[in-house]
Amino acid sequence: MDQKLFDLVYQSVVNRESTYDGVYYTAVRTTKIVCRPTCRAKIPHASNVTFFHSLEGALQAGYRPCKRCKPEANGALRPDAVLAVQVDAIIETQYKDKLTLSLLAASLAISPYHLQRVYKQVTGYSPAEKTERVRLTHAQKLLVESRASIAEIGAAVGYRSASHFTSWFCRRTGISPTAYQYEQIGGETIDSE
Ligand SMILES: [Zn+2]
Repeated sequence: MDQKLFDLVYQSVVNRESTYDGVYYTAVRTTKIVCRPTCRAKIPHASNVTFFHSLEGALQAGYRPCKRCKPEANGALRPDAVLAVQVDAIIETQYKDKLTLSLLAASLAISPYHLQRVYKQVTGYSPAEKTERVRLTHAQKLLVESRASIAEIGAAVGYRSASHFTSWFCRRTGISPTAYQYEQIGGETIDSE
């Protein structure tokens, strides 16, 4: 966003005008909260503000919807979908760590039961399954793109030992990490020689 546009949108925030309501969302870096431009809460300092075109973008960047102006209400995203996007954002940044349902629920200040139920309703699978999918995607990417060892790649996606990582990878994909690596880049090397 260029400075001119930023100033224009920021001015509407200062004046609490509805010109950009539903067009831009005011994300405040110091509080990690995202608001409508018309929010009645304290006006944030311009240097702490990032404007997002979509609420989803702001949530993916880790911002929480403001409880006062409820940017998710009457929008394209229903509250359930908002929660699912928030869960995805946490998984996407913390898949390397031990990520349990209760840890996820605690960081969103809701009950594990509620989280599990809503997330599954929106996405069709559990947060645990989603975490595994994210880990697998990252592991596959590293196997193809990095020169790291199997143990290092396992550690990078949350597995402490190479053998745990290998057996998990086999279970998910039907082949071992080394076989996957060979399938993806082994053939290519032979072709180019
Ligand atoms: Zn607000």
